Amino acid sequence: MTEKPAPHIRILDGETINQIAAGEVVERPASIVKELVENSIDAGAVTITVEISSNKKEITRIRIIDDGSGIPANEVPLAFSPHATSKIQTAEDLNTCRTLGFRGEALASVAAIAYVTMVTRSRSEDAGTRLIISGGEILEQGATGAPAGTNLTVEEIFFTTPARRKFLKSLATELSRISSVIEVFSLLYPAITFRYILNGHEKSTSHGTRTLGEVMRALRPDEASRMIQISSEEHGVFLDGFISHPELIRQNTQRILIAVNGRMIVSSRISGAIRAGYGTLIPSHSFPVAVLMITLDPARVDANIHPTKREIRISNEADFLRFIASRVREALQGQDLSHSGVSDKREITLVTEEQRNPASAYRIHETPAQRVCEATLAGYRTTTRQLRQTRLLMEPGEPDPESRFPSLTYIGQVAATYLLASNNVGDLILIDQHAAHERVRYDQLKREQREGTLSQELLVPVVLQLSTSEAHLLGEIRSDLEDEGFHLEPFGKDTWCVRSVPVVLGRCEDPDAIKEIISGVLSGGQENRMQESVSRLVACRGAVKAGVILTPEQGEEIIGQLSRTSEPYTCPHGRPTIISFTRSKLEELFRRK
Ligand code: ADP
Ligand code: MG
Repeated sequence: MTEKPAPHIRILDGETINQIAAGEVVERPASIVKELVENSIDAGAVTITVEISSNKKEITRIRIIDDGSGIPANEVPLAFSPHATSKIQTAEDLNTCRTLGFRGEALASVAAIAYVTMVTRSRSEDAGTRLIISGGEILEQGATGAPAGTNLTVEEIFFTTPARRKFLKSLATELSRISSVIEVFSLLYPAITFRYILNGHEKSTSHGTRTLGEVMRALRPDEASRMIQISSEEHGVFLDGFISHPELIRQNTQRILIAVNGRMIVSSRISGAIRAGYGTLIPSHSFPVAVLMITLDPARVDANIHPTKREIRISNEADFLRFIASRVREALQGQDLSHSGVSDKREITLVTEEQRNPASAYRIHETPAQRVCEATLAGYRTTTRQLRQTRLLMEPGEPDPESRFPSLTYIGQVAATYLLASNNVGDLILIDQHAAHERVRYDQLKREQREGTLSQELLVPVVLQLSTSEAHLLGEIRSDLEDEGFHLEPFGKDTWCVRSVPVVLGRCEDPDAIKEIISGVLSGGQENRMQESVSRLVACRGAVKAGVILTPEQGEEIIGQLSRTSEPYTCPHGRPTIISFTRSKLEELFRRK
């Protein structure tokens, strides 16, 4: 074994310190763009141009040109020193600070890791200044003619920190991050014109003096029509922006843009609150697309907890998050949330594929007599029983005349799974019979839970023979199951006896159904969502199945029951129940216009 001498402890030299610190602020080209654009915004620019040059492998130059305040000649070198800022003077100023920057770190950091040329002229001065700084060292400084504003060129990016350079993602990834930074700023600052030029070609321009809605339509034409506006105020907290129709979802929070007092932030808690507002309107593990601008008293916000200022803390956060979730919910209410049949090309091809496949040909108003066989008749009887179950539990009264659910005329059934209907303006509506009935059952379960779950004793108790670990787990979740209307008793070793079940389940003597629900709960393992998973399983089990042929009366019954639910447009798992092809869409598809 060789003895290694202990390394000596030394204080790092200033340059090294700066390079390490720089890494926290400017970790990649896109963060340089973000910091520099923020400076331009803080300087009151009306037009900001971002020019990016690259070779085949990496970004070679970032240039930001603005028409903002510029920097007075005698302050230019100072701007590049660490902790030099014009935006605050004392820590107290942080409470009132409305600028994006305040740490005085960005320019120093960029100058530490790259070759930077600044040309700037303050409005109040006649001559501009040109300064070149590289690796933290000023190489050149002098007067020059220049338009008012600032032009900052960054080259040889990360040349002092080769390790960081190695870790950069592919050029395509870096460029896409840069476009998204620019897109975010365009949305956050509709009044500013942002031009984005890549290798001499204009990639995008957001013309200032627009509203957020206009910028949205210009930048994301495909999505804009499926975004719902949100605008709200409570106790001095303002919410403004757009949230997506439930059919526009993503598997992660990347398309949720949140700005607090004009600063883009990342907050899983705020994203979570937006998600919570959707409830069962979208599948679990999915997120909407959103652009949400939050304005509140800067004193309530602590942005000073992370070098990139992307994380923040807000005082009274729990109230604040509840407010967001409830306003998202309100914005969604009263909207037509039916999923459109032709939201993207994929769905159009699906229709034509089905048309090519004769097995799923449309059957219009097929009468029972046309296909009588024992299985079908048994299916009718089961369906009738299932529908009677939910009809009996239906709240008395007709659908609310104010209801946003359209009044539908039943046409027939397709593929023994979808109900075909039409509304009074001639839109074609498809309804998933299983998802629809599942929603009806789920609603009833939830209502029962609110009113105290109705339980019903089984004529013959069902005995569950479980494994030791299952039996143990069942003992632990017994009280949750009892809240749902199940009554269970221990019945010998690893055996439990089910005496009562929720009324919604029906006077179900089918032990398999009960076993299925309980084993579903046991394998679910999400203790905090126990009640929810029981409700969903109970709703699903016992709902009219897909693949079951219905009589016209049964089809109408499902539509009628669905229309009286609180959220008819999705099933409890967030899948759509209703897809509509508007009349004008049909006309377009048939080239009638
Ligand atoms: P911060 O933005 O936190 O103050 P920076 O290092 O980003 O720190 O910038 C330092 C200072 O340089 C700013 O406070 C501002 O006075 C000045 N500055 C930087 N960029 C610009 C610009 N584009 N226009 C005018 N002034 C600028
Ligand atoms: Mg700054």
